[in-house]
Amino acid sequence: TSLFDAVELAPRDPILGLNEQYNSDTRPQKVNLGVGVYYNDEGRIPLLRAVRQAEVQRIEAAAARGYLPIDGLAAYNKAAQVLLLGEGSEVIASGRALTAQALGGTGALKIGADFLRQLLPQSKVAISNPSWENHRALFERAGFTVETYPYYDPATHGLDFDGMLAGLKALPAKTVVVLHACCHNPTGVDPTFEQWQQIAQAVKEGDLVPFLDIAYQGFGEGLEEDASVVRLFASLDLTMLISSSFSKSFSLYGERVGALTLVTSSQDESARVLSQLKRIIRTNYSNPPTHGGTVVSTVLNTPELHGLWAEELAQMRDRIRAVRTQLVEKLKARNVAQDFDFVLAQRGMFSYSGLSAEQVERLRVEHGVYAVSSGRICVAALNSGNIDYVANAIAQVL
Ligand code: PMP
Repeated sequence: TSLFDAVELAPRDPILGLNEQYNSDTRPQKVNLGVGVYYNDEGRIPLLRAVRQAEVQRIEAAAARGYLPIDGLAAYNKAAQVLLLGEGSEVIASGRALTAQALGGTGALKIGADFLRQLLPQSKVAISNPSWENHRALFERAGFTVETYPYYDPATHGLDFDGMLAGLKALPAKTVVVLHACCHNPTGVDPTFEQWQQIAQAVKEGDLVPFLDIAYQGFGEGLEEDASVVRLFASLDLTMLISSSFSKSFSLYGERVGALTLVTSSQDESARVLSQLKRIIRTNYSNPPTHGGTVVSTVLNTPELHGLWAEELAQMRDRIRAVRTQLVEKLKARNVAQDFDFVLAQRGMFSYSGLSAEQVERLRVEHGVYAVSSGRICVAALNSGNIDYVANAIAQVL
C-alpha cells in the first residue's frame, strides 16, 4: 500500500473555499465580500506609488541577492519598532524592544507561538470570541490548548466589555492572551481607549502574557492612533509580544512582510530572547526573503516615500470609512427596518453585518453576493460600481 494511503482529506479553508465558489460563479454582477483584502474603487488591489518607487530604486540598484540575517533586515526591524512604539520611545532607547522580520503577520504569530510554547509549556492561550479564524489553528498547531474570552455581543453589535473584562480576570496567571490592537477581525468592533486602560490593568494584575496582533495599523483612526494600545501596554512596563503585518498597509499581501516584536524588561534579556527566536527561525525557514522587506524598509526609511505612503494609507482608510457611510445611507434609503448605524462605529476592513447564515446564503444564491456565513463582510470590497447592487441585495434578503 502507499505511504499516504491513510491520509484523510483535510477540510478546506472556509474563506478560500468561498473564493473558489465565487470564481466559478458565471453571473457578471457577482460581488465577493468574503475576502480579507483592500480593493480600490476600481475593484483592484492597489500597487501603492511609494511601493512602486522603492521597487524601481531596488531594480536600478541591481543589488545582489545574498541571504539576509536570520532575524532579517536591521533597518526594517528598527522601522517596524518605531511604527509600533513611536519615535522617541523609551522602550526602544533602553534596548527593551527586539524585532525579527517575519513572513507576514502569520509568520510573526507562529514564531511567537513556538517561542512561548517552549517558555511556558503549562500555559493555555485565550483568543477573543470570535477571532481571526487562523488564531486558534495556529496556536493549537504550536501545541497549545486554546480557549476564548467573551468579546462580541450580537445583541448590541458591539463589545461585550463586562464579559471580556470578567473573562480576562478569570484566566490563570501566565495565560497567553491574544488581543487585536486595532480593527478587530472579524467584527470591526474595538474597545475604546478607556476600556483598553482597564483591559491592560487586568492583564497586568492577572500576570497574563499579552500577545498583541496588529494587522491593520493605519486602517482605523490613523498610523499613530492605531498604535495607542501597543504604547499603552508599553507604558505600563508590561512585557509582551506583538505581531505586526504590512500586508494590508503596504498592499503587499504576497510578499509576506511582517514582524515579531517583543518588549522585555532589560537589554540583556532582549539579547537572550532574540538568540532563542533566531534558533526557531533558523530551523524553520533559515531567514526571510529580501524583496518585500527591502521595499518596506526603503519606504519607511526614506522621508519622502514615508510621507507618500502615509498619504496613500490615509486614502485607503478614508475610502473605507466613506463606504461605510454610503452603505448605511443606501440601506436607509431602501427603507430597511433594521438600524445599521453600528456599521459606522466599526473600524477597519471588516464588518459583522448582523446578517444571519440564512441571509448570507440567500445573498449568494439569489444575488451572487458572497459573504462569510458569520455575516462578516469586507467593506473594503465595496465600490461605486457595486454598492447599489449590494444594498439592493441586502434589502431583499432582510
Ligand atoms: N492577524 C489578523 C487579525 C489578520 O486579520 C491577519 C490577516 N488577515 C493576520 C494576522 C495575518 O496577516 P498576514 O497576511 O500578514 O500573514
